[in-house]
Amino acid sequence: MLIDTHAHLDFKEFDKDRKETIERAFSNGVKKIINVGCDLKTSKNSIKLSNRYENIFAAIGIHPGEINEQKTINREQTINELKKMAENEKVVAIGEIGLDYNNKSKVESQKLKVQFEIQNLQKEILKAQIELARELNLPIIFHCRMAHSDLLEIIKKFPACHRAVIHCFTGNYQQAKEYLKMGFYLGFGGIIFKMNLDEIIKKIPLDRILIETDCPFLTPLPRQSSEKLKAGLPRQSFERTKAGLPRQSSEKLKAGLPRQSSEKLKAGLPRQSFERTKAGVQFAKTNRNEPVFVKHTVQKIAEIKKMSFQEIEKATTQNAEKLFGV
Ligand SMILES: [Zn+2]
Repeated sequence: MLIDTHAHLDFKEFDKDRKETIERAFSNGVKKIINVGCDLKTSKNSIKLSNRYENIFAAIGIHPGEINEQKTINREQTINELKKMAENEKVVAIGEIGLDYNNKSKVESQKLKVQFEIQNLQKEILKAQIELARELNLPIIFHCRMAHSDLLEIIKKFPACHRAVIHCFTGNYQQAKEYLKMGFYLGFGGIIFKMNLDEIIKKIPLDRILIETDCPFLTPLPRQSSEKLKAGLPRQSFERTKAGLPRQSSEKLKAGLPRQSSEKLKAGLPRQSFERTKAGVQFAKTNRNEPVFVKHTVQKIAEIKKMSFQEIEKATTQNAEKLFGV
């Protein structure tokens, strides 16, 4: 049984079939789900959802993407509200919190000074939330995009708070090692079908890996585009994929994809174009991810590490239970 350690089931993408989506997960190998907040509203919604389902748990926090030139956040008031929310027994972590310097489209029209101010504000809100996690003795779910050196610098100042995961890890091996040294877990999801993180995943000890979907975003490749799959994959494989079965063989998939895609895939997509894809509403709408797809990530990690699905399943579930106490 698997644990999806990072889901956003409260998002509007699930408004029409939230109940069915959750039931589909729990009746197809998913044991528990951590639903993660991004601001005060989604944190409250995460708690609400976790109170409706025994095996859904909540993380609460302010995502760095919420800190921008259009919004002002009252730090003291926000931290107090989070603290109040954390009294709910289903709250198992502070997250997602962190730094996100991928603000390119906005920044181009901004002065560098504004960018600098936003980054500083992100750091201030992050530090306050790390303090809160320490005070409440809760683990942390970190979000970090294009900011690993700054995040590492901050984290090193809080040695008492090293029960944490870097969700959707996309850094390099050097950075991975730094996090591992501090006792962190690294979370992987659909991104590993888009960026080539194979060499890093190979080297990360299994007792430090968590699996996640980040749904509705980051749909694993077998789910990403049925058109591509239809065109490229042998009928039987596509039927299996459609039915939600684990991919039969990544080799088949590689062989079946249009040339350009498989080359892009092998090389790992350039960071920028992936980020744009992730941010695209179109992507989320037409290719919605959901907790049941977490098994594709397990299958892919098993292939990379040359281990069985069951070995990855067992270890990642134990890791999640240990970190979040669920
Ligand atoms: Zn997320």
